[in-house]
Amino acid sequence: MSLDVAAIRDQFPILKREIDGKPLIYLDNAATTQKPQCVIDALVEYYSHYNSNVHRGAHRLADEATRKFEGARDIIQHFINAPKREEVIWTSGTTEAINIVAHGLTSLLSNNDEVIVTGMEHHANIVTWQQACKASGATLYIVPVTDSGELDLDVYVSLLSERTKMVALPHVSNSLGTVNPIKWVTQKAKQFDAWVLVDGAQGIAHGNVDVQDIGCDFYAFSGHKIYGPMGIGVLWGKESLLSQWPVWQTGGEMIATVSLQDATWNVLPYRLEAGTPNVGDAIALGEAIRWFSALDSAAVQAHEEALIARATELAEGFEGLRVIGTAPQKIGAFSFVFEGGHPADIGFLLDKQGVAVRTGDHCAQPLMARFGVPGTARMSFSIYNTLEEVDAAFDALKKVHMMLA
Ligand SMILES: *Cc1c(COP(=O)(O)O)cnc(C)c1O
Repeated sequence: MSLDVAAIRDQFPILKREIDGKPLIYLDNAATTQKPQCVIDALVEYYSHYNSNVHRGAHRLADEATRKFEGARDIIQHFINAPKREEVIWTSGTTEAINIVAHGLTSLLSNNDEVIVTGMEHHANIVTWQQACKASGATLYIVPVTDSGELDLDVYVSLLSERTKMVALPHVSNSLGTVNPIKWVTQKAKQFDAWVLVDGAQGIAHGNVDVQDIGCDFYAFSGHKIYGPMGIGVLWGKESLLSQWPVWQTGGEMIATVSLQDATWNVLPYRLEAGTPNVGDAIALGEAIRWFSALDSAAVQAHEEALIARATELAEGFEGLRVIGTAPQKIGAFSFVFEGGHPADIGFLLDKQGVAVRTGDHCAQPLMARFGVPGTARMSFSIYNTLEEVDAAFDALKKVHMMLA
């Protein structure tokens, strides 16, 4: 079955926009995806009909908000095949989710311990671990990236030992599009009883995520990269860890009892959700995932692979264009540089033609340094993009190339 892309596009009001009289070609999906009407409606309905604080009210609105809010948690649980709903923690996004884990682990680490991350991290999954290691005295090791933009797995295996406490890596690189073998990486880490955190910010929207099949301990993602709102995300973690590790924030909701001098903590998931949660956005994220899961996932994947394949093909015949990241397993992101063209100029001149791309270091400065570039221009694709849009983007790019030559 192929994806009915025209029908999907119809559900995204923003895709009808024009930029200086030209149709918008939105190729910045790795930064954030657009929202279908049903997600926008879910937010409007919440704020128009049953806005209320959850878990505490003795009235109808509070009851409705609580049911929808907890129902969204169930949707997430099933989507990632989490064993328990209590293991799904609402966060503000991937960044906060990783910080919760890094904060929890810091006091459990000592100077004999080691943490492994990779050379293709988003800053959210390297700066956090640098800080955890600095605070605890643990040592941080980095899995290098090969010329094609893949992890050097031989080095990874050689870094593992009894001292390894945590392996943290991205499911999919936001700059290069490389899909990492996270299940294999997890299996290797488990031979040494190390914990594994997968940064799923890019992985979540591009395939089937089954946390039990992966075997990892933590999986983090942001709602806004899977057709949901900004300001909401998810940390999934094993109950045995989340219920024992030091809490992140303290305050209302996360407590069981409070006296003037002391307090005890609530059970999961509330233990890690201090304060009033982001109710409306959580409900709308549930709606986004319900909407996305209703699509044929094999067709989604085939369509996204076709988009990347077309970009790769068009880049091959493009003189002076260097693709950064040429792994055989790639999805979503397509990075490149021009000889003599600064990425910022490429982005500016593409925008004039209605093509929205991202330029810069993509929150991955160490990776840019690895490839010897200050930054790249990045097209990133989503299910509503068409092959015609990829062609049009490359036509626009040809004009940019001539202008900059
Ligand atoms: C976007 C992104 C993040 C950070 O997500 P936020 O929504 O900004 O918290 C982390 N890792 C990767 C791979 C990303 O693409």
